[in-house]
Parts: sequence; structure tokens; C-alpha cells
Amino acid sequence: MKSTPTPALVLRAVDFGESDRILHLLLPDAGRVTAIAKGARRSRRRFSGALDLFQYLKVQIDRRRRGAMARLDQAVLLHNFGALRVDPSRFALGCYLLELLDRLAPEGGARADTRRLFGFALASLELISERPVDGCLRTLLELRALDALGLRPEFSRCVRCGRPAVAAGAAALFHVADGGTVCASCTREGDGCLRVHAGTLRALEQGMRFDLSQLHRLVLPQELLSEARLLIGRFERFHVGVELRSRRFLEQRVPIAPPAAHRGAPREKPIYSPPPRPPGQESR
Ligand SMILES: [Zn+2]
Repeated sequence: MKSTPTPALVLRAVDFGESDRILHLLLPDAGRVTAIAKGARRSRRRFSGALDLFQYLKVQIDRRRRGAMARLDQAVLLHNFGALRVDPSRFALGCYLLELLDRLAPEGGARADTRRLFGFALASLELISERPVDGCLRTLLELRALDALGLRPEFSRCVRCGRPAVAAGAAALFHVADGGTVCASCTREGDGCLRVHAGTLRALEQGMRFDLSQLHRLVLPQELLSEARLLIGRFERFHVGVELRSRRFLEQRVPIAPPAAHRGAPREKPIYSPPPRPPGQESR
């Protein structure tokens, strides 16, 4: 019996043994699947191209071997997102998104969720193939990737009481570990919330709603972008739980200036409000 053909996106590819290749694939109906392509480096007939990062393929996978790694029987290249390979910023962001998906995409899961995730993966690679990658697009795409992976920050309601958390024009408090905004009456001593402009949260909220193909149209002013970067960066580090290998490369290729001072605060610590010391503890 032949294995079923399915679209697939290559998230990771490593050589194995003399001529095999192990692939981490994202499938619309199955999430992340690890498969071995036997003799991949010898057979261009069964595996078009090199089976490499960013490739969008139509594959035949045998996943019925109980307890064993799935076997990739055949692959036809549908699209290789070649534009990502000729521009370092695009390549860096593309690698980062693939690594994020490779780390966090579920193996299996509800079909609607895995299809949504697959759709996000293709649409985001399409977007950065076509548009120049800057700090704004990078930040918004990271946010959308987290959302697609089920890690959606809450920007408008208080995560503790559910009431609208931010008054127009006011500063807002974001609790990284709790994953969203906290209203003034729910703030507790030692929370260590990030203090950001309400406008930053509104812009991020908008970034969640934009059609992905139009995301490049949303442009944040530098001050809000710096705050957004800090917020998304910390949220991601906390909730992803591992430092992704491609992050340093991305920071080099698509840097974002740290938040500038505002409201007279010193330049080094404009936004983050450290938790107050417990009573009786002397500062050193
Ligand atoms: Zn509250």
C-alpha cells in the first residue's frame, strides 16, 4: 500500500550516515513529523533537490511503522522560497521562524490547529520573501508565530480580573509570566511588570488582527517599536523556555534599538520597573 501524499515544509534537515537525511517536517494534518529519507543524497529521482530548509514539498511519508521513525518515500519540490537565501536579513528571520516552529509545533494535535499553523508558516515565509525585513516586521511576525503556536499574549484585558486593563493614553503594565496586561488594582507588590505606553499594546493588538500578507503595512514609531521588542523578546524567552540558536544571528542581522528614555527616566532603565524590595531588606 502506498503512503498518502501530503504537503510539507522542511523545518530542519541533517545528514545521517552515508547517504540518508533526517528531516523535521511540518505537515498540515499532522503537525511536526520527523522522517528519514533513505539514500536522499544519492537519489534525485525520488527526492527532488537537496531536501533543505524552507522547501515546500509534496511528500509521500510512511508513518505506519510502529515505534520507528517515519520514512520519507518521495518528495516533489513545490516552492523553495529562494528569495530567503539571497538576503541575510530575510534568511535570519526565516531561520528563526523555522526554529521556533521546530521547537514548539505539536506532534499531532487537533487538525484545525495544525492546519492553521501550516498556513501561518507558508504565509510568513511568503511575506518575508516579498518584503524587506526590518525590526517592525520582525517583531510583529514573532508575535504572530507565538500566536499560531498557541502562545497568545493578552493586550487589552487584565489577566487577573478580566476587566479592560488600559486607559487611553495611560501607561500600561504587562506581566511577562502571566502573559498579559495587569490593571492597576490587580497589581501586587513584587510583580515586576513591564511598564509600556498604552499605544504599544494597541499596536501589538492590531498586529494580531492584520491579515498576514498585509502585516508590513503596520509601522510602529521607533519608541513604541523598542517597547514592543522588549515585551515580545521577554515574553518569548519566558514562554518558549529555551534560547533558540538562530536568535543571535537574527539580532545581528535585524537589530532594534533599545527603548529610549521617556518621562525623564535614566536612559539605561526607561521601562522595566524592578520589583520593590521586601520590607526590611537593605539595598546593597
Ligand atoms: Zn485586574
